[in-house]
Amino acid sequence: MALLTQAIRGTGDVLPADSHRWQHIEKTLLETAKLYGFREIRTPVFEHTELFVRSVGDTTDVVQKEMYTFDDNGGRSITLRPEGTAGAVRAFLEHGLHNEALPQKVSYVTSCYRYEKPQAGRLREFHQFGVECFGAAEPAADAEVISLAASAFEALGIKNLSLEINSIGCPECRAKFYDALREYFSSHKDELCETCLGRLDRNPMRILDCKSPVCKGIAKDAPTVLDYICDDCRDHFDRVKAYLDQMNIRYIVNPTIVRGLDYYTRTVFEFVSTDLGAQSTVCGGGRYDGLVEQMGGPKTAALGFAVGLERLNMIMQAQGCEVPQEKTCDVYIAPMGDNAAKMALKLATMLREEGFFAETDIVGRGLKAQMKYANKIGAKFTVVLGDNEIVEGKANLKCMSTGEQTEVQIPDGLVDKIYDLTISTSLQNLTDAIDEQFKSVNP
Ligand code: ATP
Ligand code: MG
Repeated sequence: MALLTQAIRGTGDVLPADSHRWQHIEKTLLETAKLYGFREIRTPVFEHTELFVRSVGDTTDVVQKEMYTFDDNGGRSITLRPEGTAGAVRAFLEHGLHNEALPQKVSYVTSCYRYEKPQAGRLREFHQFGVECFGAAEPAADAEVISLAASAFEALGIKNLSLEINSIGCPECRAKFYDALREYFSSHKDELCETCLGRLDRNPMRILDCKSPVCKGIAKDAPTVLDYICDDCRDHFDRVKAYLDQMNIRYIVNPTIVRGLDYYTRTVFEFVSTDLGAQSTVCGGGRYDGLVEQMGGPKTAALGFAVGLERLNMIMQAQGCEVPQEKTCDVYIAPMGDNAAKMALKLATMLREEGFFAETDIVGRGLKAQMKYANKIGAKFTVVLGDNEIVEGKANLKCMSTGEQTEVQIPDGLVDKIYDLTISTSLQNLTDAIDEQFKSVNP
């Protein structure tokens, strides 16, 4: 029976009590992206397996160990997306966005799937916010995308993230770096894990990203890519840094960052947090100037990043970042008897049509139980309707926080009254907030 009442390992639910938090996070991220001109793109959860193998790279952990791949009933190999960039690139090409005004800037919030060992901050279904910018080769684009990530974190109230940047060069300068890596790792052949042994020939940079402690230890003394990048790549990197300096975005150059996906070129970056434990990277991104062409499109410089939302939320919880309060019920209408129940439904509908949050009894409770429920859901106002109220066409509206009661005409007077009262309450709240502020400045 556990199968029916337990979610699959590494997956989770968002319950109604928490969904507001996630909506706030996602909305803030997408709206920040909008300020930079990034518009949302939505792509399918599954794609042809080949798309990920070709773009993410067949020597990466993601492709070699982590993909959810299956044959569908038509015998096609399908993979649940492990990341968002491949689908965005596919859509960019499929819909001819490369023929439109460049740069094309897209953002997304998506679920991703990776078969990994579940632990804090590492799930099998997780969520990413990401952006991709197509058709921008200048260092200003790198700086803008990094600045977008920094602003999004700031908008959520997150502090103390550190930005680490590096350049992993272009295919030309990387060839020399690969030779140096091959030479270095060849002298440690007996110690490398089996996966890395296989990578030695085809993609030695992947060894730098291996999670095995032994490989990690060996990688510590390996040659670093910054010593091998060509003049153009170095110039690009220097200009990215100059832009960041100018924007007062603090960063550390970390020459060991290579990123876990094959498509990156030149600038790569991560935002890391000490509030995350072992899984310290909350955001990873960089340039991928060769990917669009590699997927069959025209040569198109591009870049982007992805933020893990579960890790982001962990940081926000650890730092006590504020989330705006969820809207609660404006008016609860408590009917007694059949006629009152009909009127209650009518009133609730009128309120909802005006954008108020209204509830009434739909389970046939007595008055006492209804008031208890109204309290529980935090209703700001209640109206009790009995036969008398229906006959006389008026009822008492009670403010739950002050206990004050006002008479209203029903049905037509209620909506207006609620308008008046909610506006005066929000004005009062505003006045209180200003008073509070004033007191803290002039105690
Ligand atoms: P890690 O090194 O932690 O495995 P990664 O390099 O595989 O991360 P990316 O592919 O760059 O991660 O994905 C970007 C972000 O997505 C990560 O920084 C992280 O916040 C999040 N992420 C990646 N894998 C997972 C996962 N299994 N569970 C939760 N979040 C994840
Ligand atoms: Mg990973």
